Amino acid sequence: MSSTQDGHDVTQPHHENLQLVDHGNAGDASGGEGQRHRVVVIGSGFGGLFGTKALKGSDVDITMIAKTTHHLFQPLLYQVATGILSEGEIAPPTREVLSRQKNARVLLGEVTDVDLDARTVTHHVLGRQTVTHYDSLLVAAGAGQSYFGNDHFAEFAPGMKSIDDALELRGRIFGAFEMAEVGAAKGEDVDHMLTFVVVGAGPTGVEMAGQIAELAHRTLRRDFRSINTRSARVVLVDAAPQVLPPFGAKLGEKSKKELEKLGVEVKLGAMVTDVDERGLVTQYKDGHTERINSITKIWAAGVQASPLGKQLAEQTGAPVDRAGRIGVNPDLTLPGYPEVFVVGDMISLDNLPGVAQVAIQGAKYAAKEIGHRLDNKPAQKPFKYFDKGSMAIISRFRAVALVGNVRLTGFIAWLMWLAVHLVYITGFKNRITAVLHWFVSFLGRGRAERTSTEQQIFGRNALARFDRGAVDLVSEPGAYEAAQVMLEATRRAELEAAAAENVRLTDAGERGVRMEERV
Ligand SMILES: Cc1cc2nc3c(=O)[nH]c(=O)nc-3n(C[C@H](O)[C@H](O)[C@H](O)COP(=O)(O)OP(=O)(O)OC[C@H]3O[C@@H](n4cnc5c(N)ncnc54)[C@H](O)[C@@H]3O)c2cc1C
Repeated sequence: MSSTQDGHDVTQPHHENLQLVDHGNAGDASGGEGQRHRVVVIGSGFGGLFGTKALKGSDVDITMIAKTTHHLFQPLLYQVATGILSEGEIAPPTREVLSRQKNARVLLGEVTDVDLDARTVTHHVLGRQTVTHYDSLLVAAGAGQSYFGNDHFAEFAPGMKSIDDALELRGRIFGAFEMAEVGAAKGEDVDHMLTFVVVGAGPTGVEMAGQIAELAHRTLRRDFRSINTRSARVVLVDAAPQVLPPFGAKLGEKSKKELEKLGVEVKLGAMVTDVDERGLVTQYKDGHTERINSITKIWAAGVQASPLGKQLAEQTGAPVDRAGRIGVNPDLTLPGYPEVFVVGDMISLDNLPGVAQVAIQGAKYAAKEIGHRLDNKPAQKPFKYFDKGSMAIISRFRAVALVGNVRLTGFIAWLMWLAVHLVYITGFKNRITAVLHWFVSFLGRGRAERTSTEQQIFGRNALARFDRGAVDLVSEPGAYEAAQVMLEATRRAELEAAAAENVRLTDAGERGVRMEERV
């Protein structure tokens, strides 16, 4: 059993199917009289966290359910992957962030089902199922990587959506240099180990390619004996004809030139058609193909909205676009279900981009609307996104920014990037340490977070070999408890016998006395 923030026991083990039914607050599944309004939030990303915070002053009980225990600042994932920042700096525990918000609690779990008519959310963690009731629901489950129907590419070309991804990539990038050093010392050809291919020339791909080039040309140049890291190839490929399409043609061209100055090979109009352990194949518009031999491929192309979007669409008849995003009403609610709001990367509305501000502003709007309804205030006007601009860093001291119609490049854009990211990193202590790490990397040559392990590199693919992933590594719900009951009986008898023998040895004065000397 667990208890809500107001102290009531709410979680009832249901022994027949070992499912926990969680009423979201004081016990009554009906959401009846005298009970605080229950808001369930799915996701602890930008939408989930900012929506929960915006409800701080409201007379509601909030349950945030997310499949990670942290809030992730995705825009800086590439800095974790390239050893600039630690994972903790961009992923503080959600529980800690919300520790002072008494009307909010956090549950770890992956939501697998939302029943809109029953107003319940079903979630799982390591095979344990819980059903939580809501009166209002805020769905902010974001988006995952899309391999455009070629999911098998993922085995050799990790995406960059999670802390696991960033740490795996860190291991693969630094590991490639290590493998090359070993091979070169034996006189082997190590070109494919010193070739890094980034797929996707959007902001993430551009930032990633720029940082790997800086690693190879600046940070690591004195650290190896058998290889010259400056000879490493960094290749950025994209099927589109320009880099950074959302920034417009001018900034795209400028960014391409900056990347080339850094030593990045930019291959445009190049669609990836195959990926294997040793490299990938690209095809150009005229039909010719090119193979690039590389053990380190990074997939920064394409997003696919959370599958929850499709599930909600099936229940409501709402449309879903090719990227799996669900069409919502202008007030961000689901057709026919005004108590359900969907925000952020999951939605398709007015061609809104998949950026943090869309999620943050949408979640704040939804939170305000919930408050208005509770206070019997009139509904707000339809949701309107305020575009604060976009920016991408290319290398140290160089970035591009688009704010309204103003296009900025170089050092000024870089300073803006620094200021904006400092404001949005969650937590004061994280801001302080991030600034220190930026000093180390941008003013100096170092990278403070170069540690990587074998498990980081191989853990994902190893887990994928189990039918049910990590669930196969733990006991079934109930099995552990049953085994404990049996063990307890035999263990108690053993412990009692051991204690009786200890007493006898002491009382008989037999400790430290040889067998043959005993009387
Ligand atoms: C590498 C990268 C770089 C980016 N750079 C920028 C940038 O520079 N500027 C910018 O504005 N935007 C950037 N973005 C986009 C931005 O991060 C997203 O638009 C934003 O995170 C969307 O917020 P969200 O709340 O919709 O989803 P997310 O922030 O992705 O949050 C989704 C949450 O839902 C949880 N979740 C998912 N499925 C389930 C489930 N079934 N059950 C329970 N929980 C679930 C996840 O664990 C997560 O907590 C970047 C994205 C990436 C990946």
